[in-house]
Amino acid sequence: MVFEDKEENLWDLVNPLEEDLDPDEFYVENFTGDRSANEDESDVDFVMRILEEEDYPVLVVLDAELNQYIESTVRKSDVKDACLELGVPLCVYHRDEGEYSDPENIKESEDHLIKLDPKEGHEQMAESCAILAKGFNEIQEKLKERLADADPEDLLEPPSEFMKDITDVPVSAKANLDKYSWGQSESVAILKEGGDKQDSIRRKSTVLGYWIHNQLLEYPGVLLNPVAAASYLGVNHEVFAEDEEYHEPLEEALYQGPFSGLDNWWWKAEIDGLLNRNTTPEDGSVISGREFLSREGYDIGPVQCLEGHDGAGYYCILTGEPVCEDDSVSPEAWIPAGASISRISEGEYMKLSGWD
Ligand SMILES: [Zn+2]
Repeated sequence: MVFEDKEENLWDLVNPLEEDLDPDEFYVENFTGDRSANEDESDVDFVMRILEEEDYPVLVVLDAELNQYIESTVRKSDVKDACLELGVPLCVYHRDEGEYSDPENIKESEDHLIKLDPKEGHEQMAESCAILAKGFNEIQEKLKERLADADPEDLLEPPSEFMKDITDVPVSAKANLDKYSWGQSESVAILKEGGDKQDSIRRKSTVLGYWIHNQLLEYPGVLLNPVAAASYLGVNHEVFAEDEEYHEPLEEALYQGPFSGLDNWWWKAEIDGLLNRNTTPEDGSVISGREFLSREGYDIGPVQCLEGHDGAGYYCILTGEPVCEDDSVSPEAWIPAGASISRISEGEYMKLSGWD
């Protein structure tokens, strides 16, 4: 379901979105602002009523402003609050970059929505929305199967238990997976509310979807995005991320779970396995990622730390660049346990702490 106040933008997004979705499985509903809340109803309650009437959309797509609805007084915060209250997945896009590029906002917890980057254009955004909708839907379907005969308390199982039903999880990735903070308090809240089972499963799948997107995919450790993978492998990240050809040797380590269409991610445990299996007795110790790629026929220069020297190994979550251990910090409050490759460049951290 799409909330967009400018008609032109609406169709620029909805037309490609409808093409990206299987019409037998999904349909796109627009809220064009031609309805308003009843007299005795708040705008949040009104949006909740719309979402319930639509039988809880698999995804709500929200333009972050909504100042140009003429008849309706529904605004961004109403849609956000309604989605949070009902446990309906929400993604937000915003043309003004100011809001999200402000470092103060990075600290703000945005666990209950997914941000889309409008810079990439409407077609790309539509594709991302379609992937998100399919991902949340897939999670919900898998959860329904898994929990068909389960007790309510099974909602509290650690995420690796759910993930293994959703996608192939390497055995050695399980422990780290469960270290990511994973919305246990939300799961307890769902249980306490004691709604009917289908509704609890629906809400739980939203929590799990946010967790996969905003924790697991966002903070490299168990899974590595292209820059983090390049840093871990020790090869130039611009070269590696630019050309998918370089990703072929890592094919078997590729993450194929929900939202995997948004980018490439690899299981770090599977990459380790690849390096081990390609090490010969003559090598002495386990070969480097760069050596592995070279043996596969891909010679890529060494990775550079964001401070400008050769070598990195880690990923700065603020700049999205490779960083070495010495030039970075790992504050507990910022980085989920388990996200072993995620760090913050010392320079950025100083800036944010106001120490420079
Ligand atoms: Zn460095």
